[in-house]
Amino acid sequence: MRVTWIRLLPTAWLAACASPAGEIQTEIEPPVIVARAAWGSQPDPIPEQRRQTPVRITIHHAGVVWKPGDDPLRKLPALQAWGKRDKGWPDVPYHYLIAPDGRIFAGRPVAYEGETNTEYDVNGHVLVQLWGDFEVQRVTLAQLRATVHLVAWVCRELDISPETIAGHRDWSRQTSCPGKDLYRYIARGDLRTWVQRMLRGEPPKVALRAQLPGGPVEFVPSSPARPQATH
Ligand SMILES: [Zn+2]
Repeated sequence: MRVTWIRLLPTAWLAACASPAGEIQTEIEPPVIVARAAWGSQPDPIPEQRRQTPVRITIHHAGVVWKPGDDPLRKLPALQAWGKRDKGWPDVPYHYLIAPDGRIFAGRPVAYEGETNTEYDVNGHVLVQLWGDFEVQRVTLAQLRATVHLVAWVCRELDISPETIAGHRDWSRQTSCPGKDLYRYIARGDLRTWVQRMLRGEPPKVALRAQLPGGPVEFVPSSPARPQATH
């Protein structure tokens, strides 16, 4: 018996320190997230049958051009009010929303499934939305960095594998979301690689790719807009 226990010990120790994927657990500093109360969230109660166990990460864009001066603190309450009024949604459709300057906002609690206008089943998805229309605008480095930090932290907190990171269009034939300039970081595995590095405690080395041939040229402007210099 004693010999057996000694043999088992290293295995037990490894199990305690490694995730199911066999990765060594490292601390991830929680990202700064603007709380619901701070942006004035006023959700309706979400029915209990909408509860979910989050098991995957799905990336979206707003699909609306982000203009200079656009402000998340105005956009978010407007999105929530529109969803309640026109769609019958009790809360904003996404769990986290990321502004062009990298600020992260808390949306619907992850304990509840989100919403979609397309045909996929949102149950089990953590929905992360980046503001901008990445069919015609470029995602910013600040947005990508915030996304990596947020997604790595969510993966660690909720024990979700980075292998599950996908874009909305991977689940639905009805959309190009999250837009070609952002989707390539998912399709080419960049986002997954950066998150995996962060989960291993390494610098993620997030970097922008070159402008997509024939793709968007302008980055989403940071907000609120800085006054333009006049000459
Ligand atoms: Zn989407």
